[in-house]
Amino acid sequence: MESLLLVLIVIAIVLFVGSVALVVHRRADRATLEPPPAPSAPAPSAPAPSPSAPSVSAPPAASLRDRLGKARGTLSGFLGSVMAREALDQETWDELEEALIRADVGISATTAILDRLRQSVASEGITAATELLEVLKTQLKADLAVGDRDLHHQPGGPNVWLFVGVNGVGKTTTIGKVGKQQADLGHRIVMAAGDTFRAAAAEQLEAWAERSGADLVRGAEGGDPSSIIFDAVQRAAARGSDLVLADTAGRLHTKVNLMEELRKVRRVADRDPGQVSEVLLVLDATTGQNGLVQAQQFTAAVELTGVVLTKLDGSAKGGIALAIQSTLGIPIKLVGLGETVDDLVAFDPDEFIDALFAAD
Ligand code: GDP
Repeated sequence: MESLLLVLIVIAIVLFVGSVALVVHRRADRATLEPPPAPSAPAPSAPAPSPSAPSVSAPPAASLRDRLGKARGTLSGFLGSVMAREALDQETWDELEEALIRADVGISATTAILDRLRQSVASEGITAATELLEVLKTQLKADLAVGDRDLHHQPGGPNVWLFVGVNGVGKTTTIGKVGKQQADLGHRIVMAAGDTFRAAAAEQLEAWAERSGADLVRGAEGGDPSSIIFDAVQRAAARGSDLVLADTAGRLHTKVNLMEELRKVRRVADRDPGQVSEVLLVLDATTGQNGLVQAQQFTAAVELTGVVLTKLDGSAKGGIALAIQSTLGIPIKLVGLGETVDDLVAFDPDEFIDALFAAD
């Protein structure tokens, strides 16, 4: 009887231990199948890139050819029938003349261009229209390539670059773009808000100055532009800045003559320690031949060192560049192709002429 009781106790113990083992096993199984609980602490952040890691370079700016607005292909559009001709007769010359005038080259520049082309045709014995156009392209590229297209920094006191031109052509915007580009090249810039007659000009320039880390000197609305530029040169000299970019008025509200005012601005800017090393006429390419008249007036008043041709991304036909070069002989140094800082590029005569004649 005692041994029977012992057997029953052993069986009960075995059954109890077995069921406990089964429960533990099941729990262990579930634990491996369930997803791990979300960590309560935030995951450690990815390590910061080391300073020596190569930075992703910006995509290369599109070429002048691709970014010109209506000017691109203007001449090839007008020259379609010239290209189709077999011989060079009077009609060919008439069509060529019309194409140049329609592209905004202007009558006197067109006449000068064609006179020289006739001489080349005679001396080189050219008989085919396609050859004629190649000679014309080469001639126009050579015409535009003359002159000094560099922007100058002279040693010594602060250099002053004056920007002149009528209202709305893009002076203030161009100063902003040039300021950023020159600051990126390592120059220390002071911007002078010399257009005291246009209410928004100083605010506009202030925004650009912030973007390029430049100092800004501004005065009261309607104040004397020369005194602002004088102050800007003093500020540049005192702070070790080497470049003053000076905005000027495009129209005055007073009876003072604009050209007189600009002469005065130039004299003051050139006073020691300042030195004027660029006087850039900003021209809106969309105004066509009007731009040429403006250029002539400004050339007579202040000694221009170069032209900035803006808004070539728009409806401009581009021939104005040839008119400026042919009539005034002033080099085009920069071209505006939009409103952002990257939209100001050095003028490249070859690329420009290829774009005007682009066939696609
Ligand atoms: P300012 O009166 O001569 O100082 O002319 P602004 O700098 O104020 O420019 C007049 C307008 O032309 C502004 O809306 C500019 O954004 C615009 N602008 C300036 N340059 C260019 C350019 O190259 N292309 C285009 N599409 N617009 C431009």
